[in-house]
Order: sequence, then C-alpha cells, then structure tokens
Amino acid sequence: MTGTAQTGQPTEQELREQAERAGRELEDASASDILKWAADAFGSRFCVTSSMEDAVVAHLASRVMPGVDVVFLDTGYHFPETIGTRDAVDAVMDVNVITITPRRSVAEQDAEHGPKLHDRDPDLCCALRKVKPLEDGLRGYAAWATGLRRDESPTRAGTPVVGWDAKRRKVKVSPIARWTQDDVDAYVAEHGVLTNPLLMDGYASVGCAPCTRRVLEGEDARAGRWAGRGKTECGLHG
Ligand code: SF4
Repeated sequence: MTGTAQTGQPTEQELREQAERAGRELEDASASDILKWAADAFGSRFCVTSSMEDAVVAHLASRVMPGVDVVFLDTGYHFPETIGTRDAVDAVMDVNVITITPRRSVAEQDAEHGPKLHDRDPDLCCALRKVKPLEDGLRGYAAWATGLRRDESPTRAGTPVVGWDAKRRKVKVSPIARWTQDDVDAYVAEHGVLTNPLLMDGYASVGCAPCTRRVLEGEDARAGRWAGRGKTECGLHG
C-alpha cells in the first residue's frame, strides 16, 4: 500500500494500529461515541452494513453522521420481509442505502453449479453471494460498522468494539458489541426503530430464506441459521 506521504491516506499498518488502539480506548464507550469516533476518523470513507434484521446501528449512525452510507447485501435469497425492511429504512431514515448484489444472479449460479447450492455446499454459496460481493462493495471504504454482539453466540463472544478486519484490510467497528438483546429491545422501543417483521414471528436472527428457520425455546439467537448443516457463520465475520 502507498504511504501517507504519497496519498494523504494512512497506510494499512497505520490503520491497523489506529483500530487496535481505538478498540482498547473505546471498550467502555457508548455505541454513539464509538460511531462518532468512526465518523470523525473516516468521514465518507466509513459506512454501516446492515442485514436488515433491524435498523439499530443504522439509526445510531444516522444520528452522529446524517446521510451515512448503509450497505445492504442482496443475495437474491432474502425473505420479502427483509427487502421490505430495506425499502422502509431507505424511505424514512436519514441514511443513504446502497444495495450491492453478487456478480451472478441466482439463475446464473444455478446454471453453473446446479440448483440449491445452499443445500449442497453452503460455504461456496456464501462465498459467491456474500463474502465476495461484500469485499467488492466495501472497496471504497476504510472502515465499516456491523451490528455484531458478543451475546449472540460463542463465536462472537470476543468481538472488539473496534478492530482490524484482516481479511478486507479495513477497520471494523462493532458499536453494539457489548449490548444484550434487552439493550437492543429497549433502544428499538425508545426510538421506534424499524425492525424486520420476522423477528415477531419466531425468528431470532434473519438471513437468507433457504438457510434460516425459527428458533426453539432455549436456543441461542443464531441457532436457526444453517441448522443441521454444521455451519454457524457465513464468512463475512470470520
Ligand atoms: Fe447461500 Fe444460504 Fe449463504 Fe445465503 S445464507 S448465501 S442462500 S448458503
């Protein structure tokens, strides 16, 4: 990567050190203060990503950075309720929703790999429809925010509030990493934040329709994702 002297932009090494330092210093900060730090540090090179399970992080970010880019990844396999939530967020919130799509449509993927790749090789399907498109969609940004929370599953228990995304070589901000589900519910209620209607219909975590089921009593929030397929994460956050 070209250094500061040539481009005016921090080097990758500097970004990584900045992220790690911020992760330590902001561990106890509020979600709003974490997002304010990111907005101040990166300006238009900062975006929020949203699965449209809810619009909590987008709402928090819009209050510190009106018009912030909210990147939504349309895999082609979403529930209609998820697309509807995306459209509602776009219509009523002070954010700039950007929808990114995989290079191939579902029909083109079926022609190349056969139908229902998600049942036969979900890792490849996620790589083609999630991981690669997000990599493309984030290309112009130095930092991105997610709605990851430590209490969602054991795989997310160590999520830093600010960290280094080594896979994409970007700063990764998780402003609600320390929140619980109760914190999310309270914020949604207090601010009337848009949520995916499926959350009221037994789904605790909303992903692509073929790979998401309702959760059972006592299961963790992500138990309904790729259930029975030995997979718990799509690769976006690994
Ligand atoms: Fe494919 Fe399922 Fe991954 Fe969506 S969640 S990209 S349908 S394997």
